[in-house]
Amino acid sequence: MKMILLGAPGAGKGTQADFIKEKLGIPSISTGNLLRAAIAAGSELGRKAAAFMESGNLVPDELVLDLVKERIGQPDCANGMIFDGFPRTVEQADALSKMVDIDMALLLDVPDEVIVNRMSGRRTCPNCQTTYHVVSAPPKVEGVCDKCGAKLGIRKDDKPEVVRERLAVYHSKTEPIVEYYRNKGVLKVVDGQASLEQTRALVAEAIGVEL
Ligand code: AMP
Repeated sequence: MKMILLGAPGAGKGTQADFIKEKLGIPSISTGNLLRAAIAAGSELGRKAAAFMESGNLVPDELVLDLVKERIGQPDCANGMIFDGFPRTVEQADALSKMVDIDMALLLDVPDEVIVNRMSGRRTCPNCQTTYHVVSAPPKVEGVCDKCGAKLGIRKDDKPEVVRERLAVYHSKTEPIVEYYRNKGVLKVVDGQASLEQTRALVAEAIGVEL
């Protein structure tokens, strides 16, 4: 299965990607995580990407496409993959169509007000990138990652003013690709407003697996 998770920042793509990854045994590829790893590694690409990310804007297509090309060439992608946060522009979707035949684009549909509320409580592990929410998905020990024990933080781009900019960017640049995949006949839409468990059940149904 080669699939894309679509949805606004904070719609729950990363969380659902983890679930699908386990169910289908294919890797999830988050361009946001790849970019943050490049910044942490101090690479030239990371240096170029950092300012765009901190202001809530999109990183230029060519930088993102280079990362994706490299990643999908790795052996664990042989049976498919889940893209999370990619493509984010029609240009990226076009470039992807030349590299991979997408079987399904799954849109997690969440209104903006719900997103802003969610993002204000999001905490992220700077080490393994697992995300939590102070109210709806807290870690077992406050402020500490369940998976690797690192101290949780707030991503610079999860600050309210940056979240609003990211939502504006989503509506203008990324939302058009929903129609792009609808026209290709591979779009499925899932209501992502409810609890994590309820959304997971809808995702399971959409991809045809048991919970
Ligand atoms: P994410 O973790 O997916 O929310 O991404 C965080 C930030 O990384 C975004 O706000 C963008 O600045 C950048 N980014 C991630 N994926 C892409 C992409 N496919 N195209 C352009 N910029 C991206």
